[in-house]
Amino acid sequence: MKQLTLGATRIDRIVELEGLGYEPTFFFPDATLEGFAAERDWLVPHFWDAKEDTYIRSIQSFVVRTGHHNVLIDACVGNQKKRPSTPAWDGLQSNWMGQLSALGLRPEDIDYVLCTHLHADHVGWNTKLVDGRWVPTFPNAKYVIHKKEFDHWQDGDDGVDGPGSADGCYQDSVLPVVEAGLAELVDNDFAIGDNFTLDPTPGHSPGHVSFNISAGGARAVIAGDAVHHPIQIAYPEWNSRFCMDADQSRATRKKFVERHADTDTLILAAHFPAPTVGRIVGNGARCKFQV
Ligand SMILES: [Zn+2]
Repeated sequence: MKQLTLGATRIDRIVELEGLGYEPTFFFPDATLEGFAAERDWLVPHFWDAKEDTYIRSIQSFVVRTGHHNVLIDACVGNQKKRPSTPAWDGLQSNWMGQLSALGLRPEDIDYVLCTHLHADHVGWNTKLVDGRWVPTFPNAKYVIHKKEFDHWQDGDDGVDGPGSADGCYQDSVLPVVEAGLAELVDNDFAIGDNFTLDPTPGHSPGHVSFNISAGGARAVIAGDAVHHPIQIAYPEWNSRFCMDADQSRATRKKFVERHADTDTLILAAHFPAPTVGRIVGNGARCKFQV
């Protein structure tokens, strides 16, 4: 995906990390290697590395320019964050900010930062380090967080140990935004104008949300982590190991796949690697992701 255009709305991605994922059955504990193998014809080459025999994933943000507002959806891991549980994220220095500026945007230009949820790989760039303090990166933005998600994180602990755990992300990447008065805690009725609406997709986390965008007669969904990898289009019953409510996460994903299957709706998700955007189409007894 270079740039996706829906009428006057432009969607770009900012890629922080892209490459091989974890061991497939580690990251997707419900998965089987036979199940992955059965879907290879459409997973390779974008979503499965045949040589290394594992899946490919990215960590990315989406920048949506509606013509009226500049909207950032999800804020990746961030620079200089202490994330000892996940070595690849610990003290990361990426050119995320350079990519924002290559889009012609300064941090001051962002009007909304939409958090699909508050996991460490989605809130990092909410803040930056200035003189030893974490301060909001986007001084003119409203940081939009679903109330249910915010309430859940009040103790700052996701109960996960090891790779992908919170490592204090609430304290360094959410709290400073709240203390600066920039957080807007919202309900399911949140919208930006008529064509940019919130879609509750709980399960991966308690207040996880996706966003629906329609413009120029086309529709897109930014799914966050409701679907982690295109393989889950074929197997919506496979959770990632970080789905917090296993049953709700499966139910939400099944509904998501059913609702969008064989429609024109374009699907984008936080961890779908390039080319990132596609449609859900029927494929025999299952569905697949068609770029
Ligand atoms: Zn994630």
